[in-house]
Amino acid sequence: MLKTKKKLPIWAKVSIVILALILILAATAAVAYRRYIYPTGEIMPGLYAVRTHRNGMPMGNFFLMRAGEKYIAFDAGADNTENENGLKRLGISAEDVVAVFITHYHWDHIASIGLFENAVIYTGNTENSGFPDIPHRIMSDGEIIEFYGVSVQCFYTPGHTADSVCYVVSGKYLFVGDLLVTTNDPPPPNPRRYDAELQLHHREKMLGLDGVEYVFTGHFGLFKSVRFFRWRWL
Ligand SMILES: [Zn+2]
Repeated sequence: MLKTKKKLPIWAKVSIVILALILILAATAAVAYRRYIYPTGEIMPGLYAVRTHRNGMPMGNFFLMRAGEKYIAFDAGADNTENENGLKRLGISAEDVVAVFITHYHWDHIASIGLFENAVIYTGNTENSGFPDIPHRIMSDGEIIEFYGVSVQCFYTPGHTADSVCYVVSGKYLFVGDLLVTTNDPPPPNPRRYDAELQLHHREKMLGLDGVEYVFTGHFGLFKSVRFFRWRWL
């Protein structure tokens, strides 16, 4: 007797298609997750994110890095109470933060500069930016500062605002603030301080830097791959 080839029943075919769709969706979500605002916690050894919210939705991150027995911060968050709670959860005392590197003067990046009483506040060129009248140290373009074996280099990257800067830490961690905001960068409230072309120019410059591996953003979390960041933002 001839054996006929068994055909897969329709339910099996449907199940395979559904399974494939679920796998594709899961993979897409996993990739997309990389650009989400990071939950408060330790991202990798010695590197921490604090997340703040607005109207119940995640709004942005600021970051902390261990430097010897102390910490340095990149920006100072959007909500003072949430920032304080975030530090508590991380077990980091604000007193142990010795430096805060501000990427630009916008309220959602500076809410807690007053919290870090022992820290030197570092900025880019704050002339005409409306930066509050508090002691701060303006870094020059390309300047490097060392803290307990951690080096922080400042790069002037005007575009989002005139005073926007990025920081490259130990040659491989890049903190960009709002060098990118959204894919299309809608006009900001103050168009005089905004230059989309300059911003794009500086994005390309910063992402082309040799040695940079990780990109930390103000509102899109952490990119563990510069290549992915370039694909997404350039
Ligand atoms: Zn921002």
